[in-house]
Amino acid sequence: MSSLLHRLLNASLPIVVGGDGNYLIDQNGKRYLDACGGAAVSCLGHDNARVRAALKAQIDRVAFAHTSFFTNAPAEELARFLVARAPRGTGAGRVMFLGSGSEAMEAALKLARQYHLERGETARHKIIARAPSYHGNTLGALATGGHAGRRAPFQPLLLEVSHIDAAYSYRMQKDGESDAGFAYRMANLLDERIRELGPETVMAFVAEPVVGASLGTQPPPEGYFKRIREICDEHGVLFIADEVMCGMGRTGSLFALEQEGIAADITTLAKGLGAGYQPIAAVLAAEKVIAAIQDGSGLLWNGHTYMSHAVATAGALAVQNVIEDENLLEHVRQRGEQLRKALLSRLGEHPNTGDIRGRGLFWSVELVRDRASKEPFPATARLAQNIQKTALDRGLMCYPAQGCVNGTDGDHVLLAPAYTSTPGEIDRIAELTAAAVSAALDLMED
Ligand code: PMP
Repeated sequence: MSSLLHRLLNASLPIVVGGDGNYLIDQNGKRYLDACGGAAVSCLGHDNARVRAALKAQIDRVAFAHTSFFTNAPAEELARFLVARAPRGTGAGRVMFLGSGSEAMEAALKLARQYHLERGETARHKIIARAPSYHGNTLGALATGGHAGRRAPFQPLLLEVSHIDAAYSYRMQKDGESDAGFAYRMANLLDERIRELGPETVMAFVAEPVVGASLGTQPPPEGYFKRIREICDEHGVLFIADEVMCGMGRTGSLFALEQEGIAADITTLAKGLGAGYQPIAAVLAAEKVIAAIQDGSGLLWNGHTYMSHAVATAGALAVQNVIEDENLLEHVRQRGEQLRKALLSRLGEHPNTGDIRGRGLFWSVELVRDRASKEPFPATARLAQNIQKTALDRGLMCYPAQGCVNGTDGDHVLLAPAYTSTPGEIDRIAELTAAAVSAALDLMED
């Protein structure tokens, strides 16, 4: 019997006792190929020697010193590393290290509010985000996310956030509409919403450059974020890029937004930053945000006990050095292309495959009851969760997601393999995913 609160509903989970490359091992010695990094976290597998050595060395030096007394060497070095590599405009400022993606999103929202207050634009407090979306589980982040099911139980406790439709190509792009036309139409929803709300009251627009769990690895249509950037600039609204899931190499570039040719004003990072070896997240602020604070109060109005934790930043620094030294972004691009082809060949013609989409090593299969009409399976069928189970039975970890568009879209199976995946592991992931999908569909027919 587990004493963990979050396991109330699921007391039958295996106990993990070890990691071996890209596999996890449970108490019975069963091995699981980790095809999703948990939730797109474990990008270097589970036993990286350099990261483990860096963690041990830092623990032997010093683990924790509160940030109101000290800074520390790994935090400073990691901040310099990120600033130097962030898309032009983003990294010119500074970095804050926190403990989780939700904490980073809260900090990003508060930073945006502080930016406007420091400049005397005190009416700017409204947030615009997209639906569906997911930005975390704390109250501000939950309010920002456009995930109807997760928000509903907590109302009226949540902030009022205005949501525009996400650029969900599979379901929102009209027949015959060009990609450029679709990108422009969806981005212009932001312009309309800002005008409706009153530009002088809008604080920030929040979006994931490549959407993760809520939409099944949805890349943006080309030109979408260029237009978003123009709209934000025209109205003095800050753009917060949530790269918690898609950042740090997952899509084939260190920052997902690099591929869109623009920079955000505030960027959040988390999962791939520490690769799961430590809980760590970051918020990057562009020069204009830093300048507003420096010219204003001179103080950041945010702080947490464990920020810039020395062991967490040492672990993340080692992770980032491994990714760079071993040229793993090139692996992500190559193995990602292999995964795309393997998924297409095994599931592309399947009558229940609605869409296969993604970028880098970040891929999803959206399953539907009817391919022609795109009708999803009913949420009560719990197809995504059943696929997670049939995959686990076969020794594969994949990440299920379901029902974020008013609870009526299809079920997604999300794959986010380690950047160190071998060609053999990628083939095995596609093979086992296809087998798990078939097995879960068969269960439904019984
Ligand atoms: N933003 C995005 C895009 C996420 O995917 C997540 C986590 N799935 C979060 C924020 C919240 O991160 P955490 O779970 O570490 O609080």
